Amino acid sequence: MSDFFQVPSFQEIKEKTEQFVLPTYRRQPVAFMFGQGEYLYDTDQKRYIDFLCGVAVTSLGHGDADIVEALRDQAERLIHTSNHFYIYEQAQLAETLVNYSFPSKVFFCNSGTEANEAAFKLMRRYGQKKKGGASLVLSLEKSFHGRTAASMALTGQEKIYNGFGPLMPDILHIPANDIEYLEKVFDEKGSDICGMLVELVQGEGGVRPMTQDFVQAARKLTEENQSLFVIDEIQTGFGRTGKLFAYENFSVMPDAITLAKGLGSGFPVGALLVGNEYTDILDAGSHGSTFGGNPLAMRVAYETIRIIMTRDILSQSNSIADYFMERMISIKGAFPIVKEIRGMGLLLGMELTIPGMPVVDACRNQGLLINCTADTTLRLLPPLNVSLEVAAAGLDILEDVLKKSC
Ligand code: PLP
Repeated sequence: MSDFFQVPSFQEIKEKTEQFVLPTYRRQPVAFMFGQGEYLYDTDQKRYIDFLCGVAVTSLGHGDADIVEALRDQAERLIHTSNHFYIYEQAQLAETLVNYSFPSKVFFCNSGTEANEAAFKLMRRYGQKKKGGASLVLSLEKSFHGRTAASMALTGQEKIYNGFGPLMPDILHIPANDIEYLEKVFDEKGSDICGMLVELVQGEGGVRPMTQDFVQAARKLTEENQSLFVIDEIQTGFGRTGKLFAYENFSVMPDAITLAKGLGSGFPVGALLVGNEYTDILDAGSHGSTFGGNPLAMRVAYETIRIIMTRDILSQSNSIADYFMERMISIKGAFPIVKEIRGMGLLLGMELTIPGMPVVDACRNQGLLINCTADTTLRLLPPLNVSLEVAAAGLDILEDVLKKSC
């Protein structure tokens, strides 16, 4: 048996990682070897409740039998052929996505940042082809859209793009939820704006939901100015905010959306859905991906959506989200270091008056995985099908840690 299947010590994994992997991540001192449902198990078989889900990815928990079977079956049949040919599984998934969203066509890629790169190219190409060369793209301060060149420049956080200049030009970050400011920008620059990219709940920016009024104003202004309105649903999609897509919570219809994370239950897959009016913008040869849309990724994503819809995961997640909200609000009432509870569905944030990372570490030591965004906001991303029992156990750990932190 190869080395791969012997359970090594955490120390061996850490040393090998430090020796051979570029140090682009600040990693927590644990390595997981096994996952089942809401739980992960480390190299010492210690069990953790997973309220991070690989950052909103494994939304159906770990080791779901139907996901595993779809992966196994498809891997045996066919993993990859390339977009030089027609791909049955790609057509099937595209049809399913369109049926559950808005009239559109789909481009498939492998990650969130790639989906946003595709959206950026769509907006720029639209400006070139249909709006007299308009090239200005709006995005929001505190947003996060990814790490590649355009997505990084679209991201409204200096710490993400500092040191990588010169950045992609003609991108303007504007304050979130400021309708007056947005109106002024469209007043002054409307004819230059080819599109606007928005996260409806800013996940990495501290779990900050947009207001209904702001989103509706953005939709109205983009429409009046013939600019594309693109929603980044990479973190919010696939039931995370209580609906299949977060835009359904805001009564707006986007021109395009980007998807990744929860779409593949952990298998890398991303997508750009483009509304029917704009499907001639990215034509043959204008964009592509070797791996994008391959049979294996498509089959797993198809299975993920099938499970969400047939097992009634959305209503299950909505009732458990009410429980999380109630408990988190009562925790806020009990501990003055909890400043605010924010979120939508099972994308939940608890803003503290103290740095969040020591709380994350203490939770992990007690067997609960959460994370911290924007320095002081604890973010909880439990599986959409988390049981009430495990939800309560996880929140008990968080409450206990906060009690000790006061
Ligand atoms: N957009 C949003 C809203 C995200 O939360 C993320 C990742 O956290 C991305 C884009 C980038 O996705 P990926 O890491 O798959 O490139």
